[in-house]
Amino acid sequence: MINQTMLALGTKRSVIREIFEYGCNRKAEIGAENVFDFSLGNPSVPAPEIVKEELSRLITETPAAALHAYTTAAGDFSVRTAIANYLNNTYQANVKPELIYLTVGAAASLTVSLTAITCPGDEVLVLAPYFPEYNVFIRQAGGTPVVVTCPAPDFQPNPEAVKAAITPNTKAIIINSPNNPSGVVFSEESILALCSALKEKQEEYGHPIYLIADEPYRELAYDDANVPYLTKYYNNTLVCYSFSKSLSLPGERIGYILVSQTAQDANNLYAAVCGAGRSLGFVCAPALFQKLIPACLGKTSDVAIYQQNRDRLYNFLSQKGFTLSKPQGAFYLFMKSPIGDTYAFCEKAKEFELLLVPGEDFGIPEYVRISYCVSPEMIERSLPAFEKLAKSLGL
Ligand code: PLP
Repeated sequence: MINQTMLALGTKRSVIREIFEYGCNRKAEIGAENVFDFSLGNPSVPAPEIVKEELSRLITETPAAALHAYTTAAGDFSVRTAIANYLNNTYQANVKPELIYLTVGAAASLTVSLTAITCPGDEVLVLAPYFPEYNVFIRQAGGTPVVVTCPAPDFQPNPEAVKAAITPNTKAIIINSPNNPSGVVFSEESILALCSALKEKQEEYGHPIYLIADEPYRELAYDDANVPYLTKYYNNTLVCYSFSKSLSLPGERIGYILVSQTAQDANNLYAAVCGAGRSLGFVCAPALFQKLIPACLGKTSDVAIYQQNRDRLYNFLSQKGFTLSKPQGAFYLFMKSPIGDTYAFCEKAKEFELLLVPGEDFGIPEYVRISYCVSPEMIERSLPAFEKLAKSLGL
């Protein structure tokens, strides 16, 4: 018999993928320009020019055998040094290259980190709304997800609720800010309160509770929003970073794990990260894309386009009577379903060729996610459809 958990994961398609596939079929039927697909978080803004320039330079100037060779498991040390220098200069993060481990994007950063710390019986807190894959990653590491809801409409974490959810079995909490799917940036005030709750519980139970900062959207913050750098607030922190969204390179699979040097037994924690990466068979992150990173630190694709999309869509939808908060980051709007049942609402939206994702899988069933990392032209074309949807619901 094959592994039934894996069989279930491989056969049950995610709701987001199902909607995306529906959209592909619908585009073939009625023309791509007539379908308004807001389902996926696939960046539409191209990677910055520096990516092409540096890749061309690397391919032209580096001997092929050296360019494509295995690197050390943790990644090329000069790349890790460049990352540490960048983080120290930009955020005064006090990190060192010896505690950075290059990965195949944030999904791998999370899977490896969770595998490194989770023991049988451990619980991992996730804050709803959350990225649905957290459930898969925590369970594969042998842990149990425990959901703590961030209250609507601002979706900031509730430290009291977090504290109440912590048990002697709590091993970690995953924090994702800017957040997928709400777009919320957790304020410094929220982070301070949350970290103080974690510290109190660590002391009470006498063992570390790790803070896993999932940060693929760190640079996608608008209106000068401050995205606190978590190693500065809490010692037992692992940062799970990815260049997928900031550089629009999601298919190339490059990111890193950073173990805070102030974490308890930081060197052993880092060794466990290396062990987890090894046991999961990652070998090393893609060598060419490792080498690209030093030239691209601090660079992003044109984030102003996402901000423009956010402003246009947010202003229009709130004018038409929908309930939503203005998010300060990532590229998602989280909108309250005007009718109770979000699946019914998403079906209604489909009648106007609008593809939205119901909030159930994100842990907030009353809301839908609108992924606005699409072209500004598509946003403009979609507005009459949103207007018709609003009218059809009597808004
Ligand atoms: N974490 C969050 C919150 C995400 O939204 C995503 C991707 O959409 C990931 C992790 C995975 O990112 P990556 O593509 O770098 O693996």
